Amino acid sequence: MGKLENQVAIITGGARGIGRAIAEAFVAEGADVAIADQAPESGTAELLSVLRKGGRRAIYVQTDVTKEAEVKAMVERVEKELGPVEILVNDAGIGEQVLLHEMSSAQWDRMLNVNLRSVFLCTRYVLPQMLERGSGKIISIGSQLGQIGGHEMVHYSASKGGVLAFTKALAREVSTKGVRVNAIAPGPILTDMMKDETDEWRDKKLTEMPIGRFGQAHEVAPTAVFLASDDSSYYVGQTLGPNGGDVML
Ligand code: NDP
Repeated sequence: MGKLENQVAIITGGARGIGRAIAEAFVAEGADVAIADQAPESGTAELLSVLRKGGRRAIYVQTDVTKEAEVKAMVERVEKELGPVEILVNDAGIGEQVLLHEMSSAQWDRMLNVNLRSVFLCTRYVLPQMLERGSGKIISIGSQLGQIGGHEMVHYSASKGGVLAFTKALAREVSTKGVRVNAIAPGPILTDMMKDETDEWRDKKLTEMPIGRFGQAHEVAPTAVFLASDDSSYYVGQTLGPNGGDVML
């Protein structure tokens, strides 16, 4: 028996990077998964075949998580095709580097929309059914920059700090009703999100990392499995940090 046997999970941003690694780890633990991401459905054959390899059900629902109507329709489709959603992973996110005094309000709004408003929207549309059943797990991917702040990333840091505060506040509302809410704050992980970093930045950052290297997406996924499973039954409103020691709280 897997740790997530027959549980249905939605993973936003699961087409690649950390979200995809979480989706692969979830099916390996017996979950059925719905990937909600914005790339066209036509390019998802390889992803779905990998996720279905072990016999689990996997669907892809093209969704812009900043758009309320699309999020609502996505949740309805997942419930219809896979059944009640037991786990929501809010992973979809974007990064960008720009100094605050050069940042446009459009850049600020976009960052907050994708990284924080989406967490509200996706949670808003799965939570009522979880509360009705008295069971569910909501896991949101924050960032260590939401804890310590990042240079040229005030908007990103604010959005991720918001995710961590959202997690704590919601945990206070719903934990006695059977819904557990927790967050993950990864350190630097080698995904497409890091591809634009300069060599100079990488070299400097590596000297600061206690573990001496950047992380891989598959090193974040076990934390999501843990928070989604009964192994974490006493974890409420927590932020776990797979970060190579870059932040120690
Ligand atoms: P990737 O860029 O590899 O993956 C992000 C995914 O989110 C992509 O598939 C992307 O789709 C999707 N996405 C972006 N915007 C939307 C949207 N509006 N609607 C639906 N899907 C969307 O990034 P990571 O895997 O690295 O990041 C995953 C999460 O982890 C993010 O929240 C990120 O902030 C966080 N994180 C990452 C760290 C890192 O170092 N990599 C460190 C700490 C936190 P598309 O490609 O089509 O845009």
